[in-house]
Order: sequence, then C-alpha cells, then structure tokens
Amino acid sequence: MRLIVVGAGVVGAACAYEASGLGAEVVLVDAEMPGQATAAGAGIICPWTSDADDEAWYAFACAAARRYPALVAELADSGADDVSYRQVGALIIARDEEEAGRDCRLMLDRQAAAPEIGEVRAVSAAEAKALFPPLRPGSLGVWIGGAGRVDGGRLRENLVRHARGRGVALVAGRARLACRAGRVAGVEIDGQLMEADAVVAATGAWTTSFVQPAGVVVRVTPERGQIVHLRLGSADTSRWPVILPRGSGHYLLTFTGSRVVAGATRETGSGFDARVTAGGLREVLTQALAVAPGVASATHLENRVGLRLAGPDIRPLLGPVQGVAGLVVATGLGASGLTLGPLAGAVAVRTALGVDQPIDLTPFDPLR
Ligand SMILES: Cc1cc2nc3c(=O)[nH]c(=O)nc-3n(C[C@H](O)[C@H](O)[C@H](O)COP(=O)(O)OP(=O)(O)OC[C@H]3O[C@@H](n4cnc5c(N)ncnc54)[C@H](O)[C@@H]3O)c2cc1C
Repeated sequence: MRLIVVGAGVVGAACAYEASGLGAEVVLVDAEMPGQATAAGAGIICPWTSDADDEAWYAFACAAARRYPALVAELADSGADDVSYRQVGALIIARDEEEAGRDCRLMLDRQAAAPEIGEVRAVSAAEAKALFPPLRPGSLGVWIGGAGRVDGGRLRENLVRHARGRGVALVAGRARLACRAGRVAGVEIDGQLMEADAVVAATGAWTTSFVQPAGVVVRVTPERGQIVHLRLGSADTSRWPVILPRGSGHYLLTFTGSRVVAGATRETGSGFDARVTAGGLREVLTQALAVAPGVASATHLENRVGLRLAGPDIRPLLGPVQGVAGLVVATGLGASGLTLGPLAGAVAVRTALGVDQPIDLTPFDPLR
C-alpha cells in the first residue's frame, strides 16, 4: 500500500514516523510554506490548565501529553538527537491569593483523572522567584510538575530523520490533491501525478485549499502568532518552569543556552500574512516584561512567526473524509498542535492504513 502524507510540520512528521513502522510505502511531501506553525510554536505541553469547556478535546489533549515521554524515549533509543523535550513543570501566576487557591483546587481536581499532571501545590512568591528569577516580586503561583516543553522544529526534524532512515521518501514541492471517481488517486506535483492508495492531509493552515479538488470543505483559517526569543546573560535556564500568567494568554518559557521565549500574539483575521509586525513585537514584549521585568536586560535573538490553524471549534479536524475514499485529514490543532500533533499524526496514519487505533474520531469529523 502506498501512502502520501502532505505537509511536514509536526503532524506530517509524526505521520511519517508512525507509518514507517507499519510496513507501508510512504512519501512525505512538503512545500516549505512561509509561516509553518511548527517552526514557530512555543512548545508548551500543559493541556490541564486550559479553560476550554470541551470534553473530547480535553481527553485527546491529555492522552497526547501522556504519550510524550514514551515517544521521546523511543526516539532517544533509536539514536535521535536531544529533541529538547523536558518536564520542567509550570507555574500558573495568579493575580491574587483567592485566584491562586481556586487554581490550585481546580488542578488538584483534574489530577484525579489525569495523574500525568504531576505534583500540584501552591507556591509562595519567594519560591516562585527562586524557580524563575526574572519574575516580578510578589508573584504567587501554582506548581504543575508534569508540564513540559519541546522545541517543535527539533522534534519535527528528528521524526522526519527517523522516518527517512526507515525508508520514507521526502519530496519537496507543492502538492495538489488528485481524485478520481470518489476516491483519491494521489497528488500532482509540478503537473506530475504521484499515485497513492491513501493521502493524509497534514497541511496545517493550508488545508481548505488542499482538499478543495475533492469537492469538500474543511474549515480551517490561519491565525498568526508572533513570538520572541531572548538570551538572558549566562543564566542556567535549562530547568526553569513554564510561566502561565492568568488573564493574559501570554506566557514565558526557557530552553538551554539561557534562551527565554516570550509569546505570543493570537491574530485572528491575519490571513496568510506571515510577517513580524511592530505591533506584534510590542504586544509580546510588553506582556512579558509586565510579568517578568528581569528579562528587560536580555539580548534579543530572533522573532518567529507561524500560522496556527484554527478550525470551527477547539477540537482537531481528524479522520477520514466521508465520500472521498482514501483521504484522511489531520489538522485544526490550533494553539495546542505541538501537544496534540504526535498523537494526531499517529491516529491519522493508522486510520489511513486501516490499522486499529484507540480513539473515537466521531467528535473530530473534518467536515463538521
Ligand atoms: C507562536 C505560536 C506558538 C505556539 N505555541 C504552542 C505551544 O506552546 N504548545 C502547543 O502545543 N502548540 C503551540 N502552537 C501550535 C502549534 O505550533 C501548531 O498547532 C502545530 O505546529 C501545527 O502543526 P501542523 O503540522 O498541523 O502544521 P504546520 O506546522 O503549519 O505544517 C503544515 C505543513 O504543510 C505544508 N503544506 C501545506 N500545504 C501544502 C501543499 N499543498 N503541498 C505541500 N506541503 C504543504 C507546509 O509547508 C507546512 O510545512 C503554537 C503556534 C504558534 C504559531
């Protein structure tokens, strides 16, 4: 059986990785579109703090976060570079003691059904500052021990490298979906048909136009996210927690090499405009400095910008497309795609190849 995966962001890379272990002939196609979300994503793996009131999404997100340590260990066992995933914990920064108490109780409630949330406890302002020194003095927090972070680009590269090592072919180019008599025929690249029994559309924000030749509508719109990378002197930031301030939607996290990441804008209506803007930078830096004034002296390293893929609701658009045999969609992961992506890719590929997978895809119908 020949499978073509279109899109090599984290979802497509995870598809290729999973498929390469299932005995199919696999081709991974990518057009390197400007604004790939994976390369820009912050990489916070902490779904338990979400305010989203959607059971199907939450169950999927928890399953995806639970699976991360095993995936990373599997990659390491097969000789991957350090993909940068680490359970560094997270601190919710509350606006007052009452909010901190409420958040702590909520996280403890959620811990019962999701033990992978790890240790949950209230953290004093002094301890919060010891854990993340640039924080504004007086910041109260709630500690979530199971939270992690990963560099999406590094994870993606390692998944692709391992898939290629197991025989997956990587093709550069913009693919056009080809259909014949109610089923996929493959994809066309530069006018040449590459035949396949099944196609997975892991095409991120570009999915609506990609599936159009099949005569179906998958509702995805791009939402620009701008994010800033800084270097904070020679601080050992390798184990600093993710900072999640209540009430702003912005956040801070760190990687090795004194790298501090401040994110991010959420620009609905941006279209496919993947530029860094003055207003975007101002917003990100203003929010970051309000929470952690100690990063004011950091060196500016780079700005990244990516197009998140917003679907009609928070749930992924994931599963077979009714009426088009052989077409599976794996997109719509919004602001949580680095968390959900590896599981979404695995599920999509198993569905395309007709291999059992444990998730009920009914709530994720890509044509809803
Ligand atoms: C600023 C920012 C911060 C984020 N922070 C987090 C976070 O902290 N935690 C988290 O879990 N998630 C986060 N996300 C979300 C996450 O990055 C995305 O949801 C995820 O990376 C989406 O992956 P994807 O593979 O679906 O899409 P993408 O990474 O966008 O990949 C899609 C790929 O499809 C290719 N493509 C499209 N059309 C075609 C075609 N016709 N032919 C060939 N190739 C094609 C493109 O070139 C691209 O490489 C963040 C996103 C942004 C922008």
